[in-house]
Amino acid sequence: MKLGLKRWSFSTFLLLLLLCAACAPKDTPGAIAHQQGKMYIVTTTGILRDAVANVVGDRAVVSALMGPGVDPHLYKAALGDLQTLREADVIIYNGLHLEGTMGEVLEKLARQKVVWAAAEGLPEDLLRKTPEFQDSHDPHIWFDVSLWSKVVELLSQRLQKQDQQNAIQYQENTIRYLATLDSLHQWTKTEIAAIPAQQRILITAHDAFGYFGDAYKIQVQGLQGISTVSEFGLQDVSSLVNFIVNRKVKAVFVESSVSQKAIEAVLEGCRQKGHQINLGGTLYSDALGEENGPAGTYVGMVQVNVGKIVKALK
Ligand SMILES: [Zn+2]
Repeated sequence: MKLGLKRWSFSTFLLLLLLCAACAPKDTPGAIAHQQGKMYIVTTTGILRDAVANVVGDRAVVSALMGPGVDPHLYKAALGDLQTLREADVIIYNGLHLEGTMGEVLEKLARQKVVWAAAEGLPEDLLRKTPEFQDSHDPHIWFDVSLWSKVVELLSQRLQKQDQQNAIQYQENTIRYLATLDSLHQWTKTEIAAIPAQQRILITAHDAFGYFGDAYKIQVQGLQGISTVSEFGLQDVSSLVNFIVNRKVKAVFVESSVSQKAIEAVLEGCRQKGHQINLGGTLYSDALGEENGPAGTYVGMVQVNVGKIVKALK
């Protein structure tokens, strides 16, 4: 029963969202935004919140449903989310099935509210095909900074249309932020290229880094598949252990939003085969770090990840 109170089923959630239209207290971010005559935008992930905040600056209020370390694949709408979504003028989610069941809720919600999938509008040839989802693509589109720039640009265009009185400001903010992202993309390329080619192998718990691998020419090997929903098995562990031993990989990484169990099994397997392997540290994959920490923004997150990868593999 306790669990039933905490987590809402899909149908209960939608029903309540529609019925409960006039019971919002006054001190929520949405209420504050509306008092100030500002647009209130709600995103699913913190990574999306950061992208939108860089476009709107202080002209709109943005908040994210998922905080640091939260895994979007497994996320289910919580009680407080109901009110937050109800207050939103615009709701933005990643799409491409990143958000699991929450994505289905938002697709339905698009009939009543302004709901955008950030991945929508990206040219299909820039998206990675995945064996897991036959009709879909790898949802981790923020790992290639140049692709994420396109997402920011598309969101900015939509926001300019939605909030026309601030459109010029949004446009100026976007131009500035895209220049920052361009430098970040070039910097990442240079840093990863400095790792000797035979050591350029990135091993993590789940296959979040596919776009990163394609963009920055580093081989990526995950244990768990594209989504953390799928469990890893003994077969996966032993084939990854063999790969690591054969290729003499120096380090493996854990992820902030994924359990360490999988990678620890791999480390143990390597030790048993007499291969010395290090833990390269925790990478931020599907969630930002703590708000005021070094990985609290998208740019910070990429810099922290690249720093750890280069340090462990070079
Ligand atoms: Zn993921």
